[in-house]
Parts: sequence; C-alpha cells; structure tokens
Amino acid sequence: MSAPLVLKNLPEPKALDALAAFGATEKEARRIWAASVKNRAQVEDLRGLEQIRRVVMDQVQAHCAAPRIETVTRRTDPADGFTKYLFRLHDGQRVETVRIPIFDTHYVVCVSSQVGCALACDFCATGRMGFKRNLEPWEIVEQVLAVRDDADRPVRGVVFMGMGEPLLNYRNVIAAAQILSHPAGGAIDGKGITISTAGWVPMIRRFTEEAHPFRLAVSLTSAIPEKRAQVMPVENRWPLADLMAAVRDHAAARKTRAMLAYVVIKGFNTGYEDALALKELIGDTPVKIDLIDVNDATGKYVPPDAEELERFRDHLQIVGCPVVRRYSGGKSIEGACGMLANVG
Ligand code: SF4
Repeated sequence: MSAPLVLKNLPEPKALDALAAFGATEKEARRIWAASVKNRAQVEDLRGLEQIRRVVMDQVQAHCAAPRIETVTRRTDPADGFTKYLFRLHDGQRVETVRIPIFDTHYVVCVSSQVGCALACDFCATGRMGFKRNLEPWEIVEQVLAVRDDADRPVRGVVFMGMGEPLLNYRNVIAAAQILSHPAGGAIDGKGITISTAGWVPMIRRFTEEAHPFRLAVSLTSAIPEKRAQVMPVENRWPLADLMAAVRDHAAARKTRAMLAYVVIKGFNTGYEDALALKELIGDTPVKIDLIDVNDATGKYVPPDAEELERFRDHLQIVGCPVVRRYSGGKSIEGACGMLANVG
C-alpha cells in the first residue's frame, strides 16, 4: 500500500491535481485543501465539509493524511516576549520555532527547515548538532500554523532563520513558502516571508531565476575570506567573490537592496579593516546590512560592547548603505539567533 497523501505537503495547484485523481471537482478540491491547511483539519474532520460529495470524501479518507506536529514545550522570555516552541515530529526528531512579537500588533514566526545543520557555523548551536534530516513542507507549514493557533495576535510574517540551511532543502522550503503565502493556505503575504542563507551560491541563483515573491537574506559575517572561513566553513565551498556576484545579480533582478546579515563578534569582525573589506566587496551593489549580536552559549564568542559596536557603525559609514541593528531576542530561553539546539 502506498503512503497516504499529505495535502499540507502540496502547494494548491499540485493538491488540486492529486484530488482530481480521486474524482474531486476543482471546487471540491479547493475546499478540501483549504480546510486541510488553513484550518489544520484532520482527515476525519473533512467529512464535515459542506458541498463535497460522499464518494469524494470516501476516497480522501482512504488515501489522505493530515498529520500534526506535537508541542513538547513552550517558553516565553519575560524580558521581551519572544516565545520558543519545541516540537516533536512523527519520527521522534525535534525542532525549535520562535515566535517574535512585533510591536503589540502581530507576530513573525522563525521556522526551522532542517533537523540540525550541515554547515557547522562555529558560533551556532544548531551547527554543532550536525545534520539529521530535511523537513517536509508540511512540517514547516505546521510550525507556523501551530504557533498561529496558540497566538493572541495574527502571524504576519515568517523567517527561515531557525535550525538548518533552507537552501539545502530548497524544494521543500519553496513548497512550504508557497503553501504559507497562498490566500487559502497560510494567508501570509509573500513579501512577509524571508528565506535566509549562509551563502549556498547555486541555490541563490536558482531562487533568483525562479522569481519567487519571497525575500532573501544572506549571512556574511565577514568580508575577509580567511576570517569568514574561520567561523563559516561554507566559505571554503562557495567563496565570497562568487557569493557577492550572486547577491549582485539577485539585487539587480529584483530591483531591490540585498539583505546582508552580519553577526557581530567582539574583537573579531568589528575593526576598520572589516568595514573596508565590506566596502570593497559590496562595491556599488545596493544592499542593507543587518548587524546581529552573536549568541554563543559556550562563551567562545561574545558580542561587542556598546562602545565597540558604535565604533564599528561609524566605520561602516564608508560602505554607504543603510545599516540596521537587528534585535535578537529570547536569550534567556535560548531562543535567540544561533541558540537553537532542541534543548526545549
Ligand atoms: S547559522 Fe544557520 S547555516 Fe550556520 S550552522 Fe547555524 S543553522 Fe546552519
């Protein structure tokens, strides 16, 4: 017997095709898919849907599944309201997801795309876990829906900045983003979905070519190749020059500023020479730089103090682009950038 069809794994057009094979009309298929995704309906709940013929429901019940992920723990940082969820997957693997409050109006959900990560950035707890497996689209979608169902305000954005390198799980990440951005699915604006990469160049190029509506963020952390390679081994595979060429082409194709993330580390990448290397690397490419404090529970790397950071920001004026300090909250619950390691 073949494995049951998980409707939450399929963007709407593919789901409609699959349901057509069970004899569903387009209208019936749309209703079934929307209920399965938007309402997280279990297969048996689908029976309650109106205007679906019984013969179709029998087929759906016999061949489809609507699994959910299970919340193991949920902890909120009292300092800033960031909430971290630990979810258990059907095979016992676990992933973490962070709910980020934006003003008092809505949330953005930081999702995981893999269990663990193969890229082994030295400042990242996920990187120290090694790679376990890719997440299926529905396991990514479910993180957002489970958080949404638990939230007191709407979820308006999704960032793929949790566990894993999203571009190494490209097909499933794009499928999840398509499901989440569909009006009858997650109903999140495509521009509110950001996919973040440590710099997997061929997939950045594919993402650009495919012209998805989602945003891209690229983690740089140093514009000096030897220094970057020390903390981000991906530099040895896809060097900065190739990475920046792909970023430049992406910015040109989108007619927008490329988002570059720069993890600031005390005494390591905050000097004048670091700003100068950034200026040379970026050239006239339109970019915006997000400065993010390193969060390393081992204590090997620490963020710069206020004075060092201010000095670096002054140096960065030579780059001539907007520089923003991105708040990375949830430190007391190990929910900040770089801290996710399935500790609950
Ligand atoms: S920072 Fe991102 S790419 Fe690097 S090891 Fe951590 S999860 Fe992987």
